[in-house]
Amino acid sequence: MTDPIAYDAQPRRPAWGVRTPLRKSLSTRQPILVAPPPPLVCISLAQCPGAAARATVAPGQRVLCGEPIGEPTGAGRPRFHASISGQVTHVEARLVAGLGAPVPCVVILGDGTDQRWPGYPPDPGADGRSSGDLQAGLAAAGLLGLGGALFPTAHKVHTATGAPVLLLNGTECEAYISCDDALLRERAASVVAGGRLLLAALGGQRCIIAVKTDMPQARVALYNALQACGDPRVVMSVVTAKYPAGGERQLIELVLGREVPAGGHPADVGVLCQNVATAAAAADFFLRGQPLISRLVTVSGGGVARPCNIEARIGTPVSDLMALAGGYQREPRRLIMGGPMMGVALPSDDLAITGATSCLIAATDADLGPAAEEMPCIRCGDCIEACPASLLPQELLVAARTVNAAELATLGVTECIECGACDYVCPSHIPLTRHFIRAKAALAST
Ligand code: SF4
Ligand code: SF4
Repeated sequence: MTDPIAYDAQPRRPAWGVRTPLRKSLSTRQPILVAPPPPLVCISLAQCPGAAARATVAPGQRVLCGEPIGEPTGAGRPRFHASISGQVTHVEARLVAGLGAPVPCVVILGDGTDQRWPGYPPDPGADGRSSGDLQAGLAAAGLLGLGGALFPTAHKVHTATGAPVLLLNGTECEAYISCDDALLRERAASVVAGGRLLLAALGGQRCIIAVKTDMPQARVALYNALQACGDPRVVMSVVTAKYPAGGERQLIELVLGREVPAGGHPADVGVLCQNVATAAAAADFFLRGQPLISRLVTVSGGGVARPCNIEARIGTPVSDLMALAGGYQREPRRLIMGGPMMGVALPSDDLAITGATSCLIAATDADLGPAAEEMPCIRCGDCIEACPASLLPQELLVAARTVNAAELATLGVTECIECGACDYVCPSHIPLTRHFIRAKAALAST
């Protein structure tokens, strides 16, 4: 029997990065909680970069769960689906979690029946279909990269067609987030099946599923699923648990020893990266006829009573998920979508989740620690050692503060992945990443 460990892709120990307290076990003590269909959803038609989809439903219209409600307005754009059955009450711009301005949304009042739309019949033989057919299926399913970027999957696969390696990222390196860990522990077979389908859509030769050294149960479950599958093209690779090892470029470097050129894409080095949840969602579509209507969300932090992972319908209000996690047990100081390093603060729990909502943290003082006073740079160089993009953060800081566009470009600010590792190690508590985000926005607008 083929051993499903990628021995030819052994993990490298990164010189960069930081080790942060992980606090992932808070939310992995209980199995995935499958949330019942919520009474109301607000589904954003602008979940990924680029133009919003065009609503194809109107207030008063009845829709079924999984029925298309938004069609793409251009090539490579995604389709959106109703995540519950019920009646459309509003088609209007609203704020949703993680986006700073109102975006076009479809609001559906549920009827409690969860009646499914029959338009996508399961296809157990999908892995025998052509690459073009499978890419069309990915577009129909409205699949988006569930690692957080929400790039339309069909478009990403299409632009990398023929790349030999599909790298599935299951390494979620930020603290608190454990939804991919939970997915692999409980649904590893779906990840493997989805990986094979994405590999066929890509026309690739090998699928490597990357997990971390600190995910023992997920690794065992994945190993067993790979053995049961018996496809020698699909293997597992284990990488060192260090932040931000899960960044796309960083993972390619760690697993394959290939460096994506500055300004380039993974396809330039023969790789397509997808999240493990995206692979599972592909299996849900082709094998079970379910488009993207839900995702796993980690609900954690000292503010909630029972941190857990929830399979939640897209468009569910954050407050519903907090209630499913036992409700607030302490007043959170901050509500964060995403991880503590790269996440965004939410102004309220009224907002609806999108496909990008991997984690919600009701962060208390104990989670966040005391606010530290910013001090002058002492040129210790710790930020240079931590930076996974081989930048010089303290030099970039000077250029960012003086808005020196030429110097910012020379120092490669656009290569900054905004990971926050430099902030984390800085003994002077300088919010370097905030300066770099502003500098990148300023450069982009010139
Ligand atoms: S870690 Fe902070 S104090 Fe040290 S060189 Fe970088 S910016 Fe300066
Ligand atoms: S935020 Fe940017 S500069 Fe700072 S460590 Fe990450 S990639 Fe490097």
